[in-house]
Amino acid sequence: MGRYTGPVCRLCRREGMKLFLKGDRCYSDQCAIVKKNYAPGQHGQGRKKVTEYGLQLREKQKVRRFYGISESQMLKYYNMADNMQGITGENLLKILELRLDNVAYRMGLGSSRAEARQLVTHGHFKVNGSKSTIPSAILSVDDVIEIKEKSRSSEKIKDLAESHSGNTVRWIDMDLENLKGSIIAEPDRDDIDIPVEEHLIVELYSR
Ligand code: SF4
Repeated sequence: MGRYTGPVCRLCRREGMKLFLKGDRCYSDQCAIVKKNYAPGQHGQGRKKVTEYGLQLREKQKVRRFYGISESQMLKYYNMADNMQGITGENLLKILELRLDNVAYRMGLGSSRAEARQLVTHGHFKVNGSKSTIPSAILSVDDVIEIKEKSRSSEKIKDLAESHSGNTVRWIDMDLENLKGSIIAEPDRDDIDIPVEEHLIVELYSR
């Protein structure tokens, strides 16, 4: 199954929570979760008995939707996480956080992960001095991510810089003036504000 490209607010309604997929709209009264917080479709308001498998599946889907990744990427990341030392579920979230599109989003260079991903694929970023257009690239501590010199005059980038709150995350040292961030630590679980029970995803893949 590839990456979902349909109406994204349906995904939030399906998960019953804000996944913050639409930038500013997510913080407004126009958010579909504010207006109709029930699952989409004909039976969306009916009551359903949720099985253990159903719970595990929902947690996995929630994470996939937060980060905008395909089923096959998710499985690949799970296998990587399982082969690392430490807690598999936390490793999985850490890998997802270190994707270039997510790092760009965490740097405040994109009002949503989708927008940050688009900026990456359109060639606006450099990693360690070289152009990088691969949103799924997994970064590491000491990597330096910046907006290309040429791209700084683009209206989109100027808007993002002007509306930037200056606050990013603990594990990225942000130089707002130069639109540059350095990864100074790996994100801890406490740094990851995704309301998910990742152990359920591990249970799902361990079945
Ligand atoms: Fe989700 Fe944002 Fe749409 Fe609200 S506006 S339903 S948070 S994508």
